[in-house]
Amino acid sequence: MPVYKAPVKDTLFILNDVLGLDRYNNLPGFEDATPDMIEAIVGEAARLAEEVLFPLNLSGDQEGCTRNDDATVTVPKGFKQAYDQYCQGGWTGLAIPAEFGGQGLPYVLHTAVGEYMSSANMALTMYPGLTQGAIAAILVHGTDAQKATYLPNMVEGRWSGTMNLTEPHCGTDLGLLRTKAAPQADGSYRISGQKIFISAGEHGMTDNIIHLVLARIEGAPEGTKGISLFIVPKFLVGEDGALGARNAVTCGAIEHKMGIHGNSTCVMNYDEATGYRIGAENKGLSAMFVMMNEARLGVGLQGLSIGEVAYQNAASYARDRIQGRSLSGVKAPEKKADPIIVHPDIRRALLTIKSFTEAGRAFTLWTALKSDIAHRSGDATEKQTADDVLGLMTPILKGVLTDKGFDHAVMAQQVFGGHGYIEEHGMSQYVRDARIAMIYEGANGIQALDLVGRKLGLNGGRAVMAVFKEIGDFCEENRADETLVSFTKPLKKGLNDLQAATMWFMQNAMAKPDNAGAGSTDYMHLFGLVVLGYMWAKMAKAANESLASGTSDADYYNNKLITGRFYMDKILPETALRKTRIEAGSDSLMAMAAEAF
Ligand SMILES: Cc1cc2nc3c(=O)[nH]c(=O)nc-3n(C[C@H](O)[C@H](O)[C@H](O)COP(=O)(O)OP(=O)(O)OC[C@H]3O[C@@H](n4cnc5c(N)ncnc54)[C@H](O)[C@@H]3O)c2cc1C
Repeated sequence: MPVYKAPVKDTLFILNDVLGLDRYNNLPGFEDATPDMIEAIVGEAARLAEEVLFPLNLSGDQEGCTRNDDATVTVPKGFKQAYDQYCQGGWTGLAIPAEFGGQGLPYVLHTAVGEYMSSANMALTMYPGLTQGAIAAILVHGTDAQKATYLPNMVEGRWSGTMNLTEPHCGTDLGLLRTKAAPQADGSYRISGQKIFISAGEHGMTDNIIHLVLARIEGAPEGTKGISLFIVPKFLVGEDGALGARNAVTCGAIEHKMGIHGNSTCVMNYDEATGYRIGAENKGLSAMFVMMNEARLGVGLQGLSIGEVAYQNAASYARDRIQGRSLSGVKAPEKKADPIIVHPDIRRALLTIKSFTEAGRAFTLWTALKSDIAHRSGDATEKQTADDVLGLMTPILKGVLTDKGFDHAVMAQQVFGGHGYIEEHGMSQYVRDARIAMIYEGANGIQALDLVGRKLGLNGGRAVMAVFKEIGDFCEENRADETLVSFTKPLKKGLNDLQAATMWFMQNAMAKPDNAGAGSTDYMHLFGLVVLGYMWAKMAKAANESLASGTSDADYYNNKLITGRFYMDKILPETALRKTRIEAGSDSLMAMAAEAF
């Protein structure tokens, strides 16, 4: 049976020692986030993840969801009760403003506990996860009346949310979408069309489901310029807030899919359903982007989460499983063979995942903190820089953490040999679950294009310059620190590769856009490698400081440094390969005629 233990100590190390959360207690919501409070929250989240969500992960995968004849959907046994506990614990409103029933705590804390929930049970966690995105969109674009009608129940978790973009003929290219919105005399709309692949589209875990739906108002322009966003509740809501008639939105089918079986992925049919526009006419995509950006960070976190839990299982198996003898002499003479953890190739796999995941955790929390600063700071410059960096990091975080989350689930499965391919160990589920995170919320190829085609040049490259400066300054400030040289030196080299690749795009992609497309995935990973290297350098500095101050937990910090050095030695040098590939341009890639493939 699989195991999972939430990495509480690591989270606290990052929040307290690396990011120094207490330095931000001038921001609203942070004044309550004292180290004691953080520890209590993170500890409670760990308990919920380990004891309530995790035990339902395998069974949820095996049972899946069923669509019944009356178009209702049954979720796996225990999911509703676990979801209710999740809501009762206040986890749905952790970082939502108090005026809508939330606790107003930092988003970075919400992110920290979100990792545990997704590691424990990704399919189940998606139900409240989608609601978070819907809440964010209503908070930013909803009218006061819409906020008052929908938010308190959604924040409490009594109502859930969904996002409806995809249609049978369009996923990436939303300009093609056909769902129609017919204006009514009372200001509402009649929504008609079909959406597919809608996560948490139908289920009985909440009293109401608030669908956020992209549709084209009759007569609106073709393409993305004619798309608006609508709130379409499953049950209409009266002026007194009471639930009224069932709206004409139904689940037509459940998709049979590779993983996340416990989450209901639905075909949703809208047959003149009543909808209410949210945000301006024809500006639906930018309103939906609030939800998508929030969701992209959540999906990146899923990649990290699956990598972590897959790693924990692989490490535990590698300590137990005995096969062969160590190359450097017998390590367990009392046994007939050594545990496979003695073999360098098994260690390569384990440390590859561990060194990535620990830096990935710091990366997600660092990015989430930028989001807090962007939304809560009173200092205009600080706010702007944080917002720039958040926008730049969103596609990198989503693309890199999910590409690697899947690779690492496979790598961890490999540690189990044939036993990893057998369902009972749970490794197959991790591989299957991790795969979708590379696809939804914008396939990773699209994240890479967003980074290179849009984010890089935005505002004259302001965001990218800010990140280069932050990393460059760190290397410079710590240049004389002998204990950090094994981190700052390779980091500087990686940064040079990244800057050279950025320059190459500036010189070669304008005139020949295929050069940008050809190098975009390599660039996204090159950027990710450097940012994770930066996270390692920051973690190494914090670990060194703890060791110098005579910590009683020297093993933890020494192991942190060993793991970080592995990253710097064995993973970060990949920046040179990525840069070389980018500079090779698009010629060989575009030369062959389509029919020759
Ligand atoms: C389990 C599951 C849950 C989902 N949940 C939701 C949900 O809740 N709500 C929702 O609205 N959608 C959801 N989706 C849909 C998902 O977001 C889309 O599948 C995804 O955006 C890709 O769209 P597509 O499948 O139409 O692929 P396509 O857009 O057809 O893309 C196919 C391939 O071509 C590439 N491609 C496309 N255009 C370009 C381009 N211009 N340049 C380079 N490459 C390109 C893509 O990267 C991709 O690899 C879900 C999907 C699944 C499978």
